[in-house]
Amino acid sequence: MSSGFTFSLVSTDCGARLGEFRTPHGTVQTPAFMPVGTQGSVKAMRHRDIEEAGAQIILGNTYHLYLRPGDGLIARRGGLHRFIGWPHPILTDSGGYQVFSLAERRKIDEQGAEFRSHLDGSLHLLTPESTTDIQARLGSDIAMVLDECLAYPATREAAAHSMERSIRWAARCRKRLIDIRSGAARDVGATNPGQAQFGIVQGGVFQELRAASVDATVEIGFEGYAIGGLSVGEPIGLMYTVVGDTARRLPDGHPRYLMGTGTPEDLVECVARGIDMFDCVLPTRNARNGQLFTSQGRLNIKNARYAEDDGPVDPECRCYTCRTHSRAYLRHLYLAGEMTAGALNTLHNLSFYLDTMRRIRDAISLRTFDTFRQEFLRSASRLSLDS
Ligand SMILES: [Zn+2]
Repeated sequence: MSSGFTFSLVSTDCGARLGEFRTPHGTVQTPAFMPVGTQGSVKAMRHRDIEEAGAQIILGNTYHLYLRPGDGLIARRGGLHRFIGWPHPILTDSGGYQVFSLAERRKIDEQGAEFRSHLDGSLHLLTPESTTDIQARLGSDIAMVLDECLAYPATREAAAHSMERSIRWAARCRKRLIDIRSGAARDVGATNPGQAQFGIVQGGVFQELRAASVDATVEIGFEGYAIGGLSVGEPIGLMYTVVGDTARRLPDGHPRYLMGTGTPEDLVECVARGIDMFDCVLPTRNARNGQLFTSQGRLNIKNARYAEDDGPVDPECRCYTCRTHSRAYLRHLYLAGEMTAGALNTLHNLSFYLDTMRRIRDAISLRTFDTFRQEFLRSASRLSLDS
């Protein structure tokens, strides 16, 4: 049995790709940005806020949902969509990244990753098979394979060793999903029979390792392909080079997802290199810290210069925050520690990101992407208003 997932490439312009993919919970236009809903919620947002901002898909973190409230509890509620009340597409990660970054006393070997919960210290084992089962119970529309996350900088030898292990893990994830689809692993209790699964290309910043990883991952065969292991501290120019080299090797007929990136400028630059999907905590996390992305650069709302500024955060933005409130009021809410500060700031930042993606898609469709890209980068760098 195959998944309910299809991807179609609509058109291309100067390396940028316009497309769409269909999932059991709806269609997503690409290039797409996925707001991060770590605990089944995009922090400070109601689902209807992010729907209105234009989100077509959100990301859920398997590590957090597995530990609390648990994938079994969510499956008994009918799966993640029904449990959280979001009827649109959801992508879940494998949990590996959080095990590597959050969990305590982790031990990685060929079998998988043994770790202690950051919540209560309890002992857990995350394997390629168990992350596939957990994501099947969550019932996301797109599941990710377990990969090994390598810190930057890494030696070529370490990157090669890690990439090869990630390939073996990817093959085990795929085999497990095929068993779930065929009914051979019926006891898993999958809640979304149309779930797709993406492979992840690793290999650090080494071009020949990335090339080998692409070949091996495509050979296993997935509905889509992600580029992992970037945005971990490497210089930005090097990241763009690796993204461009890697994306070029991936098959045209499948979506390409750059994991954990990035700034608005990164989105535009990586779309230009053939990327279709992004996720990042930057718009939501920075909003809660008072940093706002605008069409004229970034601004920190806590800065004294906004104390009596009656203008909107971004005169070009049509979000509720910009239509309704002044910089002066938002600064006051932030300094007073009001919860609405996080909500209003997050709504604006997500609106800015999602609107940027819509403008990117329009520009590709009109074959004006290169002009859009140059103008966007010029205005984004015009003033980093303050920092
Ligand atoms: Zn706004």
